[in-house]
Amino acid sequence: MLDRFQRKITRLRISVTDLCNLYCVYCRPPQGVHHMPRKEILSFEEITLVARCAAQLGVRSFRLTGGEPLTRRNLKSLVASLSSIPGVEDLAMTTNGVLLRRYAHALKEAGLMRINISLDSLQKERFRQITGGGNIEDVLEGIEAAVDAGFEQVKVNMVVMRGINEDEVEDFARLSMDKPLEVRFIEYMAFGCRMIEEKKFVPGQEVLERIRKEGDLVPADTEASTKAGGASGESSAPGLRSLRGPAKRYRLKGARGVLGLILPVSQPFCGDCNRLRLTSQGKLRACLLSGGEVDLRTILRSEDHAPHVSNGKLNPGLEKALCEAFIKASNMKPAIHSGRGEPVMCQIGG
Ligand code: SAM
Repeated sequence: MLDRFQRKITRLRISVTDLCNLYCVYCRPPQGVHHMPRKEILSFEEITLVARCAAQLGVRSFRLTGGEPLTRRNLKSLVASLSSIPGVEDLAMTTNGVLLRRYAHALKEAGLMRINISLDSLQKERFRQITGGGNIEDVLEGIEAAVDAGFEQVKVNMVVMRGINEDEVEDFARLSMDKPLEVRFIEYMAFGCRMIEEKKFVPGQEVLERIRKEGDLVPADTEASTKAGGASGESSAPGLRSLRGPAKRYRLKGARGVLGLILPVSQPFCGDCNRLRLTSQGKLRACLLSGGEVDLRTILRSEDHAPHVSNGKLNPGLEKALCEAFIKASNMKPAIHSGRGEPVMCQIGG
């Protein structure tokens, strides 16, 4: 599936819930979030149908997010359904890690391949403040459990914020020394261009200079394939290299893990954007910030499309309508986003 600008759409981010068990300063709007009634959220069966159509159209990489995906009960059954869809080559999840210790092994067994864990401070009190009351021990144990479960990649994502956690860049970089982690530094996006928010922005170049103080850095993307199955480097999974995403990657000399920089502000990657987003309410979004959306829930719940599956075959009317919706959403993707959207991350899925 190509969009108007000949970008091949190969990734789908699926928000499975708008609920979260943390209340991060940069994620939630000050006015609070209106959570959706349960019946407005797509069921696992509906999400799987959408993913089947996406896979038919050439989407190969799927990521579960939220809200906090691990707050959705029995997530492993969704993982199992998605991983058995023909054409799914990559299945990942972004989580805050709070509940990961409990679920890591079961998710791996169900077919989850990769995990990104969001973590913005290694300091107990600061972490509590950033997350509105979170306990860092839960997340650190979650990271250990993910490494122990043997995922192809375990990434730790830090959003670097001026005056909040910029002084911890070096500490985060050192996490990659002993553990097979990919530690990634993400530029803070000031949604809606509010001046107060823009002041939190730290350019990736400055982050790189801080990391350089920790030791010699070598570019990791040109390295030959590292140990198969290691969480740090290239995976042995077929096709994964081309699905890797927008990070610029480095390795500190002697480190087991790698470091990544994601620069959505100083070096926007819209030109290479190959993803669509499914919100928890079933809206297929062209872009995080701009470009519009198509309502899949109405299609899924139309009486014309019941039953969804009969004798193992997808209802042809439903299949046609969903595929057309995907093509419509792809063609809504802007060449470059305006940067002025005001997304509610927990509803769209970060
Ligand atoms: N609950 C899950 C988690 O914490 O990973 C998934 C959803 S959360 C919205 C996903 C991630 O979006 C955050 O951890 C953060 O990395 C990213 N994010 C949210 N707001 C951001 C912002 N203003 N700038 C950069 N990244 C942001």
